[in-house]
Amino acid sequence: MNILIFGPNGSGKGTQGAIVQKKYGVPHIETGVIFRENISKKTPLGEKAKAYIDRGELVPDDITIPMILARLKEDDAKNGWLLDGFPRNLAQAEALWNALQNENIKLDIVIEIDLDRETAKKRIMGRRLCKMDNNHPNNIYIEAIAPHTHDGKTVCRVCGCEELSTRDDDQDTAAIDKRHNIYYDTKTGTLAAVNFFKERTKVIVVDGRAGVKEVSEELMKKLG
Ligand code: AMP
Repeated sequence: MNILIFGPNGSGKGTQGAIVQKKYGVPHIETGVIFRENISKKTPLGEKAKAYIDRGELVPDDITIPMILARLKEDDAKNGWLLDGFPRNLAQAEALWNALQNENIKLDIVIEIDLDRETAKKRIMGRRLCKMDNNHPNNIYIEAIAPHTHDGKTVCRVCGCEELSTRDDDQDTAAIDKRHNIYYDTKTGTLAAVNFFKERTKVIVVDGRAGVKEVSEELMKKLG
């Protein structure tokens, strides 16, 4: 199974991607993860990519596209892959599509988690981290995982502790806007890439406004 997943930052794409990955047992290939690994290992690729990533810009296509096309040829991806974070713009979509056509590789599933920009931004800013455990997700804007109130204090909905904090980058509105500018750009950005696939193949669209559980149920139903 060869799968693409799209969704803005704040849409729960990471969580849904992990569920899809489990269902099909294919490697979850995330461009951002590959870049970060290369940066920490100080590889030539990492050195080239770092400045762009630090500025919140896309790494240029002449670095990103060959890197991903080579990754798809690795042994673990022989029986399929789930690509996450790529393509992120129209040029990358065209390059991927052409490479797949040239090699007679079928794109089996394309998923889009649809979420409006305002809600996506709120979701990011509403995240609260429980210091006791990173696996205790709380979000002040998502009813299903909203923190609880105890004696007038906001506490973790899972363990009840008062130690809830925010991640700095979740509160950085300029950084959030920069990423969303790329995602919601229908001319050359990520939504242009999504539309490119919509013109060529079936795209499974799920409504990202519901809770994690509802979204994954809708997704599983549509995947069959
Ligand atoms: P992510 O972890 O997906 O948010 O990616 C982190 C950073 O890696 C992004 O802000 C970009 O700088 C870079 N990046 C990830 N995917 C791509 C891509 N498809 N094209 C160019 N740059 C990317």
